[in-house]
Amino acid sequence: MERIVIDQRRLSIPSPTTGDTSSQISDLAECPVCNTNLSELGTPHMQEAHVKSCLEGGGGAAPPTAKYLVYKLPAESALIGTECVICLEEFVKDSTVARLSCLCSFHNACLSSWLQRGRSCPVHAR
Ligand SMILES: [Zn+2]
Ligand SMILES: [Zn+2]
Ligand SMILES: [Zn+2]
Repeated sequence: MERIVIDQRRLSIPSPTTGDTSSQISDLAECPVCNTNLSELGTPHMQEAHVKSCLEGGGGAAPPTAKYLVYKLPAESALIGTECVICLEEFVKDSTVARLSCLCSFHNACLSSWLQRGRSCPVHAR
């Protein structure tokens, strides 16, 4: 899989006034694949759909190369306090996480060692 490392300056701080903490993709200010400004895309659901389709290859004719995102969790991330299903430890601020196109997130180190065993998403590969 191709890894896309996101500069921390490109992470957005989710606004506490939106009341929507269900969107994990709100950590992102821009689509890391095509650099589209996600806030212009509308709802968090539309933003997630956009990033998902970009990560999966954007529907082009060529077989898509699976990509995933790597970034450090900002303090406001909705992922903080949730578990990495590989090591069962909680994500904390500044954890380096890997987010797959299926929107599953894991510690980057956990996912790297997992992928060395030749699998795709630990959650969805079963
Ligand atoms: Zn995009
Ligand atoms: Zn982990
Ligand atoms: Zn998954």
